[in-house]
Amino acid sequence: MVDIIERKRDGHALLEEEIRFFVNGYVSGEIPDYQASALAMAIYFRGMDAKETAILTDAMMHSGETIDLSSISGIKVDKHSTGGVGDKTSLVLGPLVSACGGKLAKMSGRGLGHTGGTLDKMESVPGMQIQRTREQFIEQVNDIGIAIIGQTASIDPADKKLYALRDVTATVESIPLIASSIMSKKLAAGSDAILLDVKFGSGAFMKTLEKAQELARAMVEIGNHLGRDTRAILTDMDQPLGLAVGNALEVKEAIATLQGKGPRDLVELAIHGGGIMLVQSKLVKTEEEGREKIAQAIKDGSGYRKLLALFKAQGGDISYLEHPEKLPSAKYVIPVKAEKQGYLRRIDSLVIGLGAMKLGAGRETMDDVIDMSAGVMLEKKVGDEVKKGDVLCYCHTNKEGVDEIVKEIHDAFILDAKPIKVAPIVHDYIH
Ligand code: URA
Repeated sequence: MVDIIERKRDGHALLEEEIRFFVNGYVSGEIPDYQASALAMAIYFRGMDAKETAILTDAMMHSGETIDLSSISGIKVDKHSTGGVGDKTSLVLGPLVSACGGKLAKMSGRGLGHTGGTLDKMESVPGMQIQRTREQFIEQVNDIGIAIIGQTASIDPADKKLYALRDVTATVESIPLIASSIMSKKLAAGSDAILLDVKFGSGAFMKTLEKAQELARAMVEIGNHLGRDTRAILTDMDQPLGLAVGNALEVKEAIATLQGKGPRDLVELAIHGGGIMLVQSKLVKTEEEGREKIAQAIKDGSGYRKLLALFKAQGGDISYLEHPEKLPSAKYVIPVKAEKQGYLRRIDSLVIGLGAMKLGAGRETMDDVIDMSAGVMLEKKVGDEVKKGDVLCYCHTNKEGVDEIVKEIHDAFILDAKPIKVAPIVHDYIH
């Protein structure tokens, strides 16, 4: 292990046997944390080439169980977002793609820090179960074309150990380490095709479009190298996605979107991403045709009906989806007002995400309990004209004494004197 660290420290490409020796030895406990952290830091500074990154991903993916989805007919397609604020895309895009004939066997995660997790959002509906056996998971996709469950503990133990180590050794923001971490889990989960939504800007791992493109290219290359149709869209986090941030609030917004009443950016992302996923599923020839089908699934309500079917199949009480006013709501709804006039240039997603977390919507540590009703509802989006006294957003909480948090949320809204041109949500497509 000392030789391996030394070689990477001096800028050499590691050999396949060296990478596999490290991953296997670290998972088995033979290689201690201090050597693994030294190697992670050497990789952080020296990087890894495409071949090393693909080998690392493959070794991590095979450190645990890999899911065999071959008993589900057709192409299985998955999507993954690198972590956004207000990102309820899976709850919209999943049902839409499935309503158009796609097969979505998805394993999702929980929220931590300023980003939310699909599993937590789903659990705001009483009865919803996210732990399913492998047989139940496969049977459900065969029955209704969609399942979204929690990642089983046996998948990718190398990533669990390495990610926890990176988190406390300042080695998270390394492109080969992020790319192998995300892709090893996605590949182990067994889908044939993967659409990645790579975020950039405040609150994302990659702060600039250029860095996000680099990460996206690394992941697309790994996926295709390992035989899966992998593509990426680049979307900005210069503001939260949609209007709702917080678990029950986001479920309400996902329902409204599937009923044709969604916010512009979320609808645009769902239609764009869905068009690509239908091409990946070989259900349409062109993305344009795919986008038309997705738009139709919003219009005719088939996407909404698929959302109901998804929740019903996993034990959720769908009367909460049919009557969203039954979902948990907070005791206090505090308006946040503009102190001056202007045009909204940016809404700092990191500040809004952290603010929502502090209002009760998220976890600071994995053991924290979430308040499903808490969060932030935006009233203004980038490009909107704001007059002094206008409500910028509402803070939903059951906590008292949140003045400081409300102030931070207020300061996340950055105004400009001149009108702003609103850019499309998808900045690039890498395939
Ligand atoms: N998400 C992951 O799963 N891994 C990383 O390294 C970063 C984000």
